[in-house]
Amino acid sequence: MTVIAMRCPACRTTDAVPPSALLVDVNTVTDDASCAAAVAWICAGCHELVCAPVEWAPLLAMIGAGAVLLDSAEVDEPSGAGPA
Ligand SMILES: [Zn+2]
Repeated sequence: MTVIAMRCPACRTTDAVPPSALLVDVNTVTDDASCAAAVAWICAGCHELVCAPVEWAPLLAMIGAGAVLLDSAEVDEPSGAGPA
């Protein structure tokens, strides 16, 4: 199984995370131009949802491996658009 090494910014544990467990938020704006997106996952060390910025190359590798892209457009959906 493909796994991606992610280093937790909180506890410094390096996890081998399956791509399907990675949440990629491409709408998160950072000041660092080298960062393409923020990636969130459940850290095996601190058992929390942690988030770290990633650069373009690892981001594309994650997406190619099956990481989940968060679509913030769903959050901004008008309230009248619910099921009839
Ligand atoms: Zn951690």
